[in-house]
Amino acid sequence: MAKNISYDDLTNLLKEAHEKFKNENSGANADYIPYLAGIDSSLFGIALVLPDGRTIETGDTQYRFGIESVSKVLTAALIIEEYGAQEVLKRIGADATGLPFNSIMAILLEKDHPSTPLVNAGAITACSMVKPTGDSDAKWKTIMDFFTRMCGSAPQLIDELYKSESATNFNNKSIAWLLKNYGRIYDDPDMALDLYTRQCSLGVTTLQLAAAAATIALDGTNPLTKKAVLKPEHTAPLTSLIATVGFYERTGDWLYTSGIPAKSGVGGGILAVMPGSFGLAAFSPRLDESGNSVRAQKAVRYIINKLGLNVFKDTALTVK
Ligand code: GLN
Repeated sequence: MAKNISYDDLTNLLKEAHEKFKNENSGANADYIPYLAGIDSSLFGIALVLPDGRTIETGDTQYRFGIESVSKVLTAALIIEEYGAQEVLKRIGADATGLPFNSIMAILLEKDHPSTPLVNAGAITACSMVKPTGDSDAKWKTIMDFFTRMCGSAPQLIDELYKSESATNFNNKSIAWLLKNYGRIYDDPDMALDLYTRQCSLGVTTLQLAAAAATIALDGTNPLTKKAVLKPEHTAPLTSLIATVGFYERTGDWLYTSGIPAKSGVGGGILAVMPGSFGLAAFSPRLDESGNSVRAQKAVRYIINKLGLNVFKDTALTVK
């Protein structure tokens, strides 16, 4: 059954969610990347993008935070565009690992493929696949151009974050070379890892993430720019990846309670896709033990539950 809501009521719902959870202080900033440990924990923003390009923003939606693992969704989309959904399934996979995002055990258990582009291993493989092979600058340009089209405007590299992460990413180095050992890196492993680290260090606003979510939700056309970014047939496989592993080992709990496919990053961002209706994003730095933002999870779940939407039941919302 299609649901109706006025723009003003939807705006008020976002404000209500912000108000309700702004004093929720559990969790902690990511501290394994020194830059992230120093970010103001009180920051909190929520943004929504509708099919006609109207936007709703509440809180710190213009603050640029580290996109981190939400970038994995965009690179997955890029390689699905470049290679097709079938080839990505073959080279990387579309399964949950049931393990943390940076798990080496997951690679050892599944050595025939890196499981999914939405964990570190699969995302590093994805970066190795970005065209053109062998040219780091040209690959980076492909990534930046694509991210810009998904977000409706350009993300900006947070140099301090890039340096901070590059100096401490020993676990990811092991992942890149272990994947090389299994024949799952399709370019230079150090180059693939550097591209992955750089894309994770891009600064985005909550509104930019909501625009990328809306592009996925709305058949691949960005409602802000009105430009087609993804082929319409690619949005469902992409959304299935998000639904399957977006919150790592906590994805089942998330989907069961929220009803919306969403992807988190340790910078505190969450991108959430309501197919056919809107893109929603939230950001706040404090994370739970699996690396998912506490406030952003609560806000997104609250909004979706209040709207009565659920990807397994009813995704249609008409906003007057
Ligand atoms: N760049 C981070 C890492 O590789 C991203 C992790 C995340 O956001 N979950 O560890």
